Amino acid sequence: MAAIRLSKSKLIAFRQCPKRLWLEVHRPELKDESGAERRLQAGHSVGDVARRLVPDGLLVAHEGDPGAALAETRKAVASGANRPLFEPAFRHGDLFVRADVLFDPKGAATLVEVKSSGSVKDHHFEDAAIQTHVLRGAGIDVARTHVAHVNTKWIYPGGGAYAGLLTEVDVSRAIAPVVKEVPTWLRDAQGVASGREPEVEMGAHCHDPFECPFADYCTAIAGPGPAFPVEILPGNGGKALARRLREAGYEDLAKVPATKVPEGLFRRIHQATRSGRVHLDRGARRAIGEWAFPRYWLDFETVAFAVPIWAGTRPYQQIPFQWSCHVERRSGEVEHFAFLDLSGRAPARQCAEKLVATLGKRGAIVAYHAQFERRVIRELAERFRGFAPALHAIHDRIVDLEPVVKAHYYHRDMMGSFSIKAVLPTIAPALDYANLGEVQDGDGAQGAYLEAIHPDTPRERRAALKRDLEAYCAQDTRAMIVIAERLVA
Ligand code: SF4
Repeated sequence: MAAIRLSKSKLIAFRQCPKRLWLEVHRPELKDESGAERRLQAGHSVGDVARRLVPDGLLVAHEGDPGAALAETRKAVASGANRPLFEPAFRHGDLFVRADVLFDPKGAATLVEVKSSGSVKDHHFEDAAIQTHVLRGAGIDVARTHVAHVNTKWIYPGGGAYAGLLTEVDVSRAIAPVVKEVPTWLRDAQGVASGREPEVEMGAHCHDPFECPFADYCTAIAGPGPAFPVEILPGNGGKALARRLREAGYEDLAKVPATKVPEGLFRRIHQATRSGRVHLDRGARRAIGEWAFPRYWLDFETVAFAVPIWAGTRPYQQIPFQWSCHVERRSGEVEHFAFLDLSGRAPARQCAEKLVATLGKRGAIVAYHAQFERRVIRELAERFRGFAPALHAIHDRIVDLEPVVKAHYYHRDMMGSFSIKAVLPTIAPALDYANLGEVQDGDGAQGAYLEAIHPDTPRERRAALKRDLEAYCAQDTRAMIVIAERLVA
């Protein structure tokens, strides 16, 4: 039987999990690609910018047509012009790749792989090694291999000037031993691809380094697991304890004896899980009782771009475009304030201005997982010096509801999570986020924002997105009040 030809992405899939490769080759229809769904995006991709920064480059087109891309690459290399090539295609043996940028293809070439991450990740070395192996096999003298990643410290000056966005790291020496392993990977991958569906148990590799698109399929064939798997125990300590419990033969937290679980958070989770009784102690009332009125229940929604679109911002900087604030007076009266900018212009200055005008000078500002709100406010203070004193004062008034929940409340339906979305349904099922419109979480809010500011989005659609964004953000701050009321009841 002829050996199966593979692309770089299939070999990378094999490196993550042999079963994933097999499914990619034989059952691609099982793939859940909803996570990869492309929404309307603002601005350029990292790859676009990388190409714009290289003068006189030649783009080898023919996406989805390897034969045509190979032919055009051969022609470009043979032409003698020695121009930098974008997306050139190469085959060596049974392996096909497309490089990102290739400088000096006729001489001592430099191969550059462009990544949108903020640093070089472990899996980038394998990726670069596969590319290097194939290009060398195809007759290119690859003298250097670089990984270009986004420089998260760089500040966009505006006007489309993106020089400085990317940092190039020479990985030639680091990948030298890895390049030698590629033929073995290929042989093993071909063996898997031409065999029967391998049996692989699900585990951490299903999410690392990529979310596997076959997770639904594998979950379904794995059948129902324990009601409360020991892996729900939170944090690194919880993961380590879960590993020990698994090794000792325990799968379901509800069946673990109390003596196996240390005092503190894990014991509370364990007891509530075993008994089915909610844990709530008086410490919550004491902690919340110290928060001064008026209480400002605050939540931000932010957006981050790999390629900044607004001057003065950094790649992946969290830029607030929306906030909700419920103001609760000692009398019990509650008033709602909100900010949402869907103009597509830089929203941060106006966001800061309205925040300062709304949050007054006294009273506790309550956030959930407050380190995020604190960071956003610190960054606003750094960027807009005129508001800095007021923003620093706001920063210092922030208190956090999440640690209070974590220390004093647990319902077993939270399944080890203390996120507001896990806690709220156990206290006020009617306020479940699943009952909201299209926007039900932070990622959904970012996607809705990007779609709403895109010039091609029709007015009615924009109005619908605005309604959903407002409802979602208001729910976050309303939810905090409801949770706090339950904790002090
Ligand atoms: S879900 Fe996990 S076990 Fe299943 S194919 Fe993907 S990586 Fe492999």
